[in-house]
Amino acid sequence: AKAIGKVRQTQQQRANKYSTSNEVERTERIEKHDSSETPAPVRLSVGDYVVIRKLDETTGLIEEILPRKSELSRLDAGSNANKLVQQTLLANLNQVVVVFATAQPDPHFGLLDRYLTICESAQLMPVICINKADLPHEDYVEEAIELYSQLGYTVIRSSTHTEEGIAQLREILKDHTTLFTGPSGVGKSSLVNAIEPGMALRTGLVSDVTGKGRHTTTGSQLYPLSKGGWLADSAGIRALATWNIAPEELAWCFREFRPYLGECFYSDCAHLDEEGCAICQAVDDGLINERRHRSYVRMYTGVER
Ligand code: GDP
Ligand code: ZN
Repeated sequence: AKAIGKVRQTQQQRANKYSTSNEVERTERIEKHDSSETPAPVRLSVGDYVVIRKLDETTGLIEEILPRKSELSRLDAGSNANKLVQQTLLANLNQVVVVFATAQPDPHFGLLDRYLTICESAQLMPVICINKADLPHEDYVEEAIELYSQLGYTVIRSSTHTEEGIAQLREILKDHTTLFTGPSGVGKSSLVNAIEPGMALRTGLVSDVTGKGRHTTTGSQLYPLSKGGWLADSAGIRALATWNIAPEELAWCFREFRPYLGECFYSDCAHLDEEGCAICQAVDDGLINERRHRSYVRMYTGVER
């Protein structure tokens, strides 16, 4: 069934979100995220925290589902095509490692921007991982690493061949619930295996060429990491990059645009190339990276290159 990705948020989360400053520290963001409250869920989902009453050594009874800190859900046309069902894919995910390679395949930073906006919108901590650092690569890759670092994102240069960045990734994964995403061939399964040997197979990151034994469920699974924390299986969340963000929310998802929001001449400014647009002016003045603005325009208009 075709699904539309959606992230549900409470008023409180939204309020928190709009008060987030331009350059948020990792820890600060996670704390802010943790402090938001959602109503207690009615149906149990993967990732939920629960209160269990212990009956004996091996049995327990779920007494309560604790409020979720985040919820990835989508509208799904189930067995009845006339009815869209809100389906929770995963509760309490809080981190997404977006993986690209320095080369082979060449990185597509427009796609990275798309992943980042989804993370911003869903209040998931994005970690940018530029893998295959051992390969010779073009200057624009280094320039992009510099740009995203300046925007306040955590950028990790890694290589499964030289072990560069692996310890840092391991540290970042600790005590979080993390999803690895990114185009195929960038080294996601290799990275997951370098972080935790044998893990990639279990998490469904390795695509099964025979098609047999593939995940057919729409839900996800969580796998415990030996150092603490969880890795989310990518089966149900593969289409993250195609999720839609409401046009009026999109500019906020480009974090460097935030200081200029509300400064445009027209209050309903789309920030494309309008007269009196504070964001376009900032682009002209070199305060906002032009390529990032082009990414915004492409996403807003829905027109890909
Ligand atoms: P995935 O599709 O993102 O899961 O990518 P894979 O983990 O299957 O890796 C794709 C290819 O890239 C494989 O041939 C890997 O051996 C290779 N690869 C993975 N990590 C690195 C790296 O750090 N450096 C180089 N040079 N090659 C890598
Ligand atoms: Zn504007």
